Amino acid sequence: MIPVNEPLLNGNEKKYLNECIDTGWISSEGPFIKKFEEEFAKKSQKKYAVAVCNGTAALEIAIEALDIKEGDEVIMPAFTIISCASAIIKAGATPVLVDSDIETWNMNVQEIEAKITSKTKAIMVVHIYGLPVDMNPLLAIAKKHNLKIIEDAAEAHGQTYYGKPCGSFGDVSVFSFYPNKLITTGEGGMVLTDNEQVAERLRSLRNLCFTAHKRFVHEELGWNMRMTNLQAAVGVAQLERWDDSIKRKREIGKLYTELLKDVNGISLPVVKTDYADNIYWVFGILSKHKPAHVIMKQLGEKGIGTRPFFYPMHLQPILKKIGLYHNESYPNAEKMYNYGFYLPSGLALTDAQIHEVATILKEVLN
Ligand SMILES: *Cc1c(COP(=O)(O)O)cnc(C)c1O
Repeated sequence: MIPVNEPLLNGNEKKYLNECIDTGWISSEGPFIKKFEEEFAKKSQKKYAVAVCNGTAALEIAIEALDIKEGDEVIMPAFTIISCASAIIKAGATPVLVDSDIETWNMNVQEIEAKITSKTKAIMVVHIYGLPVDMNPLLAIAKKHNLKIIEDAAEAHGQTYYGKPCGSFGDVSVFSFYPNKLITTGEGGMVLTDNEQVAERLRSLRNLCFTAHKRFVHEELGWNMRMTNLQAAVGVAQLERWDDSIKRKREIGKLYTELLKDVNGISLPVVKTDYADNIYWVFGILSKHKPAHVIMKQLGEKGIGTRPFFYPMHLQPILKKIGLYHNESYPNAEKMYNYGFYLPSGLALTDAQIHEVATILKEVLN
């Protein structure tokens, strides 16, 4: 069996974890947290980084820290993970959707302006699968309409837009460190900002809004979303390999592309755009005729792990149930769900495994 993802943990992870155990620093108070935050902020060209327990939590406090609340609208892609919509809805606001570009799989920036109303507060930008969103036109729209940017870079560690890091564009930006992400801490997330007050608020919200002067007296309700020193220890070790991981992801993408480029009936991820080279967080495939679930089932029977593409937000049963998206259609997002899936793409994947996956995929498609 070739799993869809296997992380690579062969650097200083074990050494730093042992340090945590030897020193007894296993809670969120330990020294690796600060180190991980500082180094991650530097890599992302942001002033402040606040480590949290996962990427979904990061989105939740990002929304809260920007004071997005009941009655507000946030524009976001129809094609993404539920965490994005969920964070907006839990704050009492409404996610307003735009369709995807069928080539890059990212939100179609051309469709944003038509969705802006007097209630729009922010745009949630999500870089999908390996290419960044086309930020310059999006930033111009945000500026013109005085909208905040929440940048979800959970799939874009190490990716850049015209040379500037993904995660550096948001008023608040978030990352995830789930094991299928380019940097992992097992579970984990990060929220970044250049605004000192927002950073303070993020720190407070992740830590139950304890007040500095009177412990156990609370002016506000927060969450316990703290990252542990154990997780940060793994994160610090992972950061040491950041450039190698980026390089390896691109090698994996390049090899799959070479092996699959002449196969009929599928389209492959865009190799590059004016603004970025694909970083292949995952190697996605868009089938032209055969539904994704049929191909995935056949691959599974031959020992190849896959995942379907995201299920679009406007089709989510829970979002329909709360009254959203009843007469809306996002044809590209629907097509991507019906015909899209991704191949094993983790950092521990070997070239031999990539050859095997490509051979079996060709068999299945013929
Ligand atoms: C993985 C991911 C998240 C959620 O991160 P978790 O750490 O799994 O909660 C959020 N947004 C995007 C785009 C993701 O890919």
